[in-house]
Amino acid sequence: MTLLQEHPKYRLRRDKLVQTLLRKGIVVKPVLEAIGRIPRQLFIDSAFDARAYDDSPLPIGHGQTISQPYTVARQTELLCPQPGERILEVGTGSGYQAAVLLELGVKLYSIERLRPLHERARDTLRALGYTQMQLKCGDGTQGWRAYAPFDGIIVTAGAPVVPEDLISQLADGGRLIIPVGDDQGQQMLRIIRKGDEFIEEDHNTFKFVKLIGKKGWDAPGT
Ligand code: SAM
Repeated sequence: MTLLQEHPKYRLRRDKLVQTLLRKGIVVKPVLEAIGRIPRQLFIDSAFDARAYDDSPLPIGHGQTISQPYTVARQTELLCPQPGERILEVGTGSGYQAAVLLELGVKLYSIERLRPLHERARDTLRALGYTQMQLKCGDGTQGWRAYAPFDGIIVTAGAPVVPEDLISQLADGGRLIIPVGDDQGQQMLRIIRKGDEFIEEDHNTFKFVKLIGKKGWDAPGT
């Protein structure tokens, strides 16, 4: 990440956020260190600057949100990304989760269905100097066949069911992290591929915006 000139208040707020995440049970040091480095204030509208390091989701426009830092950290822990691994993210949103993954040294592929968000995230990530990424605007419920298989797939919106295409694009040993449920809440599933076997684990309840697409929820008004 390119080093930015920023007011020292942000570093203090980031340090506090990292302490909060530690207290809430995030234990993987590289994940905490990545969150301790990334200027979250750059991924949101300046109107929310004072809340940039609250452990809460924030609006990013178009009815979408930047995820709560705890959720980003927990999904990343479950994904267990190793440097050099090929990771697909469905739901680029603000680009913040993408930045956490890039800080961990992965080769990132990320898809966002809303063009204005895709473009803004692309500009933010480029401005921060990240290069190991391919971003596209489209429907991520069908994965990204051209770059499959992936060592990990992380879905950052709530799905009604696990999309088959995502399962089929996992490499052997690959992990799919996906919240599945309805409007009220979703179970965070981790599905691990071991050869022809798929092992499913349940990691608690979360609340996400909807995964909208061919293999997700219908778009509002359709
Ligand atoms: N990872 C994001 C971040 O760090 O800001 C969180 C984004 S938000 C919780 C979920 C995002 O998923 C929204 O930007 C939404 O537009 C996007 N989304 C929903 N359905 C999608 C789909 N089928 N393909 C790609 N993106 C989708």
